[in-house]
Amino acid sequence: MSKPMTTTRFAPSPTGYIHVGNLRTALFNYLIARKAGGQFILRLDDTDAERSKPEYADGIKEDLEWLGLSWDRVETQSSRLDRYQAAADKLREVGRFYECFETPVELDLKRKKQLNMHKPPVYDRAALALTAREKDDLRAQRPGHWRFLLDQTRIEWNDGILGDISIDAASVSDPVLIRGDGQILYTLASVVDDTEMAISHVVRGSDHVTNTATQIQIIKALGGSVPEFAHHSLLTGPQGEALSKRLGTLALRDLRAAGIEPMALLSHMARIGSSQPVELMGSVDELVESFDISHFGAAPTKYDVEDLKPLTSKYVSGLSAKDIAPAMAEAGVPADVVEPLWAAVHENVDIRSDVANWWALCRDGIAPLVDPEDTEFVATALTLLPEGPYDTTTWSAWTAAVKQATGRKGRGLFMPLRKALTGSAHGPDMAGLMPLLQKIPSSV
Ligand code: GLU
Repeated sequence: MSKPMTTTRFAPSPTGYIHVGNLRTALFNYLIARKAGGQFILRLDDTDAERSKPEYADGIKEDLEWLGLSWDRVETQSSRLDRYQAAADKLREVGRFYECFETPVELDLKRKKQLNMHKPPVYDRAALALTAREKDDLRAQRPGHWRFLLDQTRIEWNDGILGDISIDAASVSDPVLIRGDGQILYTLASVVDDTEMAISHVVRGSDHVTNTATQIQIIKALGGSVPEFAHHSLLTGPQGEALSKRLGTLALRDLRAAGIEPMALLSHMARIGSSQPVELMGSVDELVESFDISHFGAAPTKYDVEDLKPLTSKYVSGLSAKDIAPAMAEAGVPADVVEPLWAAVHENVDIRSDVANWWALCRDGIAPLVDPEDTEFVATALTLLPEGPYDTTTWSAWTAAVKQATGRKGRGLFMPLRKALTGSAHGPDMAGLMPLLQKIPSSV
């Protein structure tokens, strides 16, 4: 028998943008599908009509495109509502769906009473005892909501990351699948989609573990086949604190605006929380090649935006002149300067747009940085500057002449000259930069 096709999905709700937390979900599902030569579906969980927005759906696609994570097709839950109704009918038919009428306040009161009595706050199934007459009376006051009747056994699965899981269904409330206002809830919609779209693997955050337990029962009640589940750990801040907006850039678009490279982000996300070291990968294909979900652990995973910076700078430094040409063009660098400028500065950029700073230095010059004890030395050196145009031999010829005239050598010779010409103690190889400097001070 041939193996069934591997199909995964990334199922964000278009109620916000992708952030580092749900990026791991997207990436793992993507990598599993690509590694197996299967299908990766982008599923928009948009049954919440009020909070779902087309601009978020567009934003999610834009972010995935930026990352280079391509999907095979898009599905939207809002266009499949009839499928969910059909599934609800089926659950009613098999006696696993029941109507309830408690208000949120009543439910809250029940929970508080249970907690006071040191009992788990599990829904008491009072609605199951309602007579048809009582239900009619209640329905006249408010619309009912619908719960799935869990079979109170243990629900077990072998999780791709967490290992063997066993959850006592009696410790879980019967999940509400349709709200009083008729809105189909995620738990039902997701199960129907996963079943009908033949999803073979579901990877999501460990906050979904209890959902998974109830969903396994719903899938079985609907006659579907249960996918492989894996629940990745949730990200925390660098000190293990809850990841919150205060910890800096979380949304992908903010990282993009800050110049973080997609490959840096993906390389990091594909390895943190696993037994493999974080290393910069050259392409998404390389990530696919080396991905193995069994390398991931259950412990919360620390995320620090600072870790993306060295990876980004390493990636950018390795770009070719052709790759960096668009950023150069944006900075106004003339086409014939792109190659020599990149050759000179590529190891001295953190993000692509840093080329603009180097180009500004070349084009406009900069206020020289001269330490008081070097004033005379720099003034003498500048009088020894040869006539332009400069080439890659200019720096060594000039510094040789300065050395001879002043007797200085080594760092004492080179550093004040670098600072005078570039305004900084750090920077590219001066031999390569000299020919590009269009404004060199003639005096200090
Ligand atoms: N829309 C759900 C979420 O973003 C999907 C969870 C799942 O993968 O099933 O949490």
